[in-house]
Amino acid sequence: MLLQYLLAFLLIFASANINALPSVPAARLSKPGHQRVEKPPSVAIPPATSVPSRQAYLLDTVIDYDRHFVTVDETIMYPNLTGRELNSLTLAIAANLWPNCFTLSNINIDDVDVAEYSLRAHRLDVPLRSPLQPDSVTKIRLRYTLTLPYMDQANSLRARIFGFGEVQMNLVNWYPYVVPNVDGEWVIREPWSHGEYLSYPLADFEVNVVFTNPLNAPLVASSGSAERIGEFTRYTLRGGRAFALSASRDFQVSSMKVGQITVNSYYLPLYRNAGEAAMYASAQAIQVFSQKFGLYPHESLSVVLADFKDSMEFSGLYFHSRSFYDLYDGTPANYLTFVAVHETAHQWWFDAVANDQALEPWLDEALSTYSEAIYYETVHPELLSYWWSNRIDFFHPAGHIDVPVHDFPNDDVYKQVVYFNGAHFLQELRMRIGDDAFFAFLRDYFAQSRGKMTTTTEFFEILDANTDMDYSDITSRYFRNE
Ligand SMILES: [Zn+2]
Repeated sequence: MLLQYLLAFLLIFASANINALPSVPAARLSKPGHQRVEKPPSVAIPPATSVPSRQAYLLDTVIDYDRHFVTVDETIMYPNLTGRELNSLTLAIAANLWPNCFTLSNINIDDVDVAEYSLRAHRLDVPLRSPLQPDSVTKIRLRYTLTLPYMDQANSLRARIFGFGEVQMNLVNWYPYVVPNVDGEWVIREPWSHGEYLSYPLADFEVNVVFTNPLNAPLVASSGSAERIGEFTRYTLRGGRAFALSASRDFQVSSMKVGQITVNSYYLPLYRNAGEAAMYASAQAIQVFSQKFGLYPHESLSVVLADFKDSMEFSGLYFHSRSFYDLYDGTPANYLTFVAVHETAHQWWFDAVANDQALEPWLDEALSTYSEAIYYETVHPELLSYWWSNRIDFFHPAGHIDVPVHDFPNDDVYKQVVYFNGAHFLQELRMRIGDDAFFAFLRDYFAQSRGKMTTTTEFFEILDANTDMDYSDITSRYFRNE
């Protein structure tokens, strides 16, 4: 990896042509002199006149930034779209994997307190007093606090993303949510040493945030569009998977528009050039992927400098490792751009089109990695071969790509197979069926799978509807379950 960084550093390419972009002043969340907390009226929870097509989350959130303490009053409107009667609900709460972090004070369902429930590791099972019929809606209210863990990167094998560190406070997978139900089974997997393991339903989010010390509130980056309402700032995200938030008193933000979409980049002041380059790459990627796959699913994208050693996608937001900002050399031939484009592609392959990230991670990771190639061939065609040799082939990709995260011994092997060999699979497939069929397939796959949780089977069904070519020799090399 280090050698690759050095190679990227030594090669000199034409200037990235990143013009000086206007810097947006850091908008503070609260005006001085007001301590009273008023809850704004909700727009997330609609009146129950019809069955909504997806879940809705209202998170009234009070953050004590200096004490790393968060108080949440959460309401979920859950429509039973499973086609079956439900006797219980299963929620995921990853924050409970941290010791002494998540403290649940109350659950109630349809305004009746729940006395008995089961909370083990990241799984919360809540029995229902009476069965929830298909196409009916239930309201779940949870009140809890989060004592945030310190993001101790030095003593952790994998990046620590949730909690507080020297630079920022990150809220990711921080609220309980009802997991997808597929064929009567709740989709909730075990965490692993690498890769992602959570599956998310499509949902609307309204997150109302207030800081206990408004005089010294940090700058907030989030998955949603922000709107000041009294003491609160309301963040709204429609049709997303995972609402994330990052706050820092050190953040500086630059913004730009691509069509109707706002891209905000949050970084530390010394990284302004890299922060704006990541923003610019993401804006270009949004343009390219909107043309090649289908429209970007949200109103905004937040690019957030992450004081940890990896980048990570959430809805309308991705964390971008500080190490890439450190290595940025002013050209698009480096990891800052590779990974900015990759994480942007996850808004199509992870957010709009979701999948079981634990059991079929290739569906979002191979496509997001290959989307980098599509970006380079479109925006920087002179760098495409550099991208293949440095981003992919340097790692000697090999192995069957349709393997669960739990079957890999470590993150390096996981990426070598799922990301890098996955990119080769898609390239071979494209060469076989031709560009026209390949891009028609990607558009069709995006259109048909958007808002759903897709599977390998559906991937190939939609592929077969777009080509008559025989590609079975390719799948037999890349898939163990062809
Ligand atoms: Zn990825």
